Amino acid sequence: MKSMITETELSAFRSQLLDFIMELEKDDVASTDNRSTVVLDQQSVGRLSRMDAMQQQAMANATHQRRLAEIARAKAALARMDQGEFGWCVDCGEDIALKRLKHDPSLPTCITCARGG
Ligand SMILES: [Zn+2]
Repeated sequence: MKSMITETELSAFRSQLLDFIMELEKDDVASTDNRSTVVLDQQSVGRLSRMDAMQQQAMANATHQRRLAEIARAKAALARMDQGEFGWCVDCGEDIALKRLKHDPSLPTCITCARGG
């Protein structure tokens, strides 16, 4: 079975994924300050409620976790590319619609599987 995706499209997807990973990693490094500052602020900003600080930190951590998951997904897509498996649904093995990949090349499944079959 041969993928419908051309070499040109494939290399476009690859650079899109690499850019995506780079952006996410840059954002994450930038927000590392936020995550640690919250802890310090609990001591230095006396009246800031502990709940607020904890909530802020939880949000920063959630964003961090979400970024890590997105980076992992993009890296998995790159790995599939290296194995010549990019563009096929990891669940059912069908082609993933090109339109779908253009929207987000890191998506691992076809629309049917993404909707839960
Ligand atoms: Zn599928």
